[in-house]
Amino acid sequence: MPDRMERRPRIAVIGAGPAGLAAAEAAAEAGAAVTVFDHMASPARKLLMAGRGGLNLTHSEPPERFLARYADTDPRLAEAIRAFPPEAASRWCEGLGQPVFTGSSGRVFPVAMKASPLLRAWLARLGGLGVVVHARHRWSGVRTLAAAGAPASLGDTPGPHEPGVPPQHLALTFDTPDGAVTHRADAAVLALGGASWPRLGSDGAWVAALPGVPVVPFVASNCGVAIAWSDLVRMRFAGQPLKRIALACGGVRVRGEAMVTADGLEGGAVYALSAPIRAALGAAGEAMLTLDLRPDIDAAALAARLDGPRGSRSLANHLRVAGGLPPVAAALLREAPEDGRPLSARVKALPLRVTGLAGLDRAISSAGGVAWDALDSRFMLRAFPGVFSAGEMIAWDAPTGGYLLTACLATGRAAAEGALAWCAALPHPGTAATPQP
Ligand SMILES: Cc1cc2nc3c(=O)[nH]c(=O)nc-3n(C[C@H](O)[C@H](O)[C@H](O)COP(=O)(O)OP(=O)(O)OC[C@H]3O[C@@H](n4cnc5c(N)ncnc54)[C@H](O)[C@@H]3O)c2cc1C
Repeated sequence: MPDRMERRPRIAVIGAGPAGLAAAEAAAEAGAAVTVFDHMASPARKLLMAGRGGLNLTHSEPPERFLARYADTDPRLAEAIRAFPPEAASRWCEGLGQPVFTGSSGRVFPVAMKASPLLRAWLARLGGLGVVVHARHRWSGVRTLAAAGAPASLGDTPGPHEPGVPPQHLALTFDTPDGAVTHRADAAVLALGGASWPRLGSDGAWVAALPGVPVVPFVASNCGVAIAWSDLVRMRFAGQPLKRIALACGGVRVRGEAMVTADGLEGGAVYALSAPIRAALGAAGEAMLTLDLRPDIDAAALAARLDGPRGSRSLANHLRVAGGLPPVAAALLREAPEDGRPLSARVKALPLRVTGLAGLDRAISSAGGVAWDALDSRFMLRAFPGVFSAGEMIAWDAPTGGYLLTACLATGRAAAEGALAWCAALPHPGTAATPQP
């Protein structure tokens, strides 16, 4: 048996979003010396943006229903979430001085709704644990060094290692405003995010720095859809909310809200249908959405209110007076061709033809990323021993509802545990063993 490392493991975390900060916290709490790098000027830009519309941290539904929200849930994702379930996320948030509440939909939010007080408290806790954060460090690659000794010809800045302890296993390279730098670490957690809202930092460019790692191409998720509205809708109704509606696609029906945009629809109810819409677009080049403008009234009751003679009332006025519907409802009804059904039936099931998804630029999240096959059971990249991965950069997908952040926090912690186990198994110099955590 090789001797095991006796000094504090040095763990680099790259990406200061929720997954990276969760990894940093778990590793530092376990006693590791943790350094966090991000190429933006300050951490967690996307988390702060998420807080603008109300930070939906997690969801209160039962565990199995919660896990079923992740499309094709990999057992490793499920295991990470079972180890850090929604209640743990809530307790963690409260432990940072941010009490949470559960909304009528079961979604859990910090009372402050914003992300900034939570992030401030989180960074202070990390500082107290000795975590060092380097901004404006753009990670460009990693080399795996021999665990028992670094080759002399690397030309890197030597890692600070004391005599008698193993040189650090990884050489991580960064572009900074002061030029290229190399940082040595025993293990690294990459938490570089997906590819949506690239101006907030996660631009997906990391794919080029991980040659040999299978990556599922990024596609927009939790994003708006494109619908070819008439000029009337585009010019008069863009920005109008559709409140208390239901939308269905591919056998999935969700209740919620949406907003008419110049190019289509966006909002929670649309985002929740990302996966079936994407599937239909992939199969047929278009997807049909079914809009129920009055899901809270059954078909017979609505027929009694809407299908009688409307006299001299305009359609919009009739829908408003008899159906309690806003003017935008009449405009949308006029968009769909007459199909001979009574008005109430059209209000309950209005077909909308979706021609595409909004781009990654404005999508709440992306699907795609590091393929699960590229990772071992502890979130380590098989092609880069000692390098772990977490968060949205892994190819899982989930609707909004707190599932994204919960999975980021849970996989960040799981990757940190993998990295700690890897470090614990690193040999002393002079032993030829490859670590097998
Ligand atoms: C408008 C909006 C609202 C949202 N609302 C919610 C919500 O209410 N609830 C919810 O659950 N989720 C929400 N999300 C999604 C959630 O914010 C993301 O899923 C989450 O931030 C992903 O966390 P992450 O740590 O994996 O990646 P990110 O938060 O994207 O962090 C990745 C980090 O890596 C850094 N990085 C990338 N490449 C490099 C590199 N080469 N070198 C160094 N650093 C690099 C980036 O700068 C970034 O800081 C929302 C997203 C948006 C855009």
